[in-house]
Amino acid sequence: MKPKQPRVIILGAGMAGILAAIRLQATGYDDVTVYEKADRVGGTWRDNTYPGLTCDVPSHFYTYSFERNPHWSRQLPPGPEVQDYFQRTADKYGVTPMVRFNREATAARFIEGRWELEFACGHSDSADILIAATGVLHHPKYPKIKGADQFQGTLLHSARWDNSIDLAGKRVGIIGNGSTGVQIVSALAGKVGHLEHYQRTAQWIMPVENNEFSAEERAIFRDPEQLAKAMNVEEYMAAVEAYTSAITDIESDAARGMAQACLDNLEQGVTDPVLRERLRPDHTPLCKRLIFSPDYYQAIQHPQSHLVTEDIEAIEADGIRTADGQLHQLDVIVYATGFHADYFMRPMTISGTNGVRLDDFWADRPKAYFAITMPDFPNLFMLNGPNGPVGNFSLIDIAEHQLNYIEQLMARLRNGDCDQIAPVHSAMQQFEEERTAAAKKTVWYLGGCVSWYLDESGIPSSWPWNFSRFVASMAEPDWSAFGLNPPTGAAVDKAAAGK
Ligand code: NAP
Repeated sequence: MKPKQPRVIILGAGMAGILAAIRLQATGYDDVTVYEKADRVGGTWRDNTYPGLTCDVPSHFYTYSFERNPHWSRQLPPGPEVQDYFQRTADKYGVTPMVRFNREATAARFIEGRWELEFACGHSDSADILIAATGVLHHPKYPKIKGADQFQGTLLHSARWDNSIDLAGKRVGIIGNGSTGVQIVSALAGKVGHLEHYQRTAQWIMPVENNEFSAEERAIFRDPEQLAKAMNVEEYMAAVEAYTSAITDIESDAARGMAQACLDNLEQGVTDPVLRERLRPDHTPLCKRLIFSPDYYQAIQHPQSHLVTEDIEAIEADGIRTADGQLHQLDVIVYATGFHADYFMRPMTISGTNGVRLDDFWADRPKAYFAITMPDFPNLFMLNGPNGPVGNFSLIDIAEHQLNYIEQLMARLRNGDCDQIAPVHSAMQQFEEERTAAAKKTVWYLGGCVSWYLDESGIPSSWPWNFSRFVASMAEPDWSAFGLNPPTGAAVDKAAAGK
């Protein structure tokens, strides 16, 4: 077959969509369109604007590998700086003009070898290759609490913050103590009239420093060599490896070390023994996504902060009624209650070869071969899709590794080695069997908690092996799983080479 220049559509202009657009341009794909449902790039960093929004990955690691950022103000990057970074990078690399904003894809169908897309505004388009960069934690989860519609004050989800609200002097109740709730409480403690934090399940908190970088440090970071030295990538990657080992082996030294650090933080960070017991989790650390916080224990011990551990019975006109009968009068209620982590590209309707529906393929749980491709959905590649690694490390790094793999698949299409690429069913089934068996050995499964890592049947949906196995898996696809022989000339992209 002759080499051809495929048309590529990328869905989503968040971190992963921007990355894909930059990399595909660099490898000579000149017919690429990015569709974005909102009016700006940035994804989760555009959507989330709640007080205290911070990325808990060290700032210098929360960048693309080819575009480090010497300007970060602190060790943990504040949300607006992250949004600014993505906006700036999209502009610098010419991605912004490739994006068609305010276009929400509602359907994608694979018909006669092409992806046919429909958009909410009535627009339609088609492409040879579809890259779904639609995000993981994107659809807010609203708790079903009786009487919520009766509340006379302001009720909002953390991911739909309204910055016009003046919280000074207000009585604020925050429901949920995941990473988001903890950040909001830490930011608002002492700054509102009265703060109540509603905790259903106590969480382990890992201490972390979040110092400001000095002007001298930032000047040093402007020199790429000095920045690389300051980052100490080897040490950071060793920490990531240790983290994933702790998840996959709850008896490991790494797991014990992290558990001890969380325990020490609780013992030393909370002075009142009664409060300390109320904050003491009953599950194994890392079972839920570990919370890194420099100041939560301080915030919850502020004289105007109150931890509420009674079950929420209902929301009434004036506040929250707890199971002990008490009415907690509030002006503002914040749902820091998380996201529908199993939606991925949905609610888009997606159908592949012979009309196979994604909803049917995912009827038991979202799944994908090495988190990227699916049988019967040819030429569709996911970034940060189901079963990929998630944890307390950079999703940017994950997406870069996934893109290495995707680019190799795309090269086979562009070289004309094949015109459709998807894993065979047996490969998918074998991967899924191995993945779910390994998932049952992780702390997410064995640690005695419930979290968004679990699918509906209680099986962890994330990458259940350590990080080095992920990196090795992304280095080159197992071509036999795609019904192909290895490429001649070790994955040389003939079309790119000829440009
Ligand atoms: P989350 O981890 O899913 O936490 C949701 C919280 O809401 C939990 O505490 C949950 O309690 C509580 N909740 C849910 N429904 C409730 C109900 N009906 N009544 C009482 N409590 C209820 O959500 P999240 O905090 O938004 O974090 C989600 C993920 O976003 C994180 O794990 C992380 O991956 C990402 N994130 C990252 C950062 C960062 O710094 N990188 C910051 C924020 C978020 P239970 O524990 O009892 O279920």
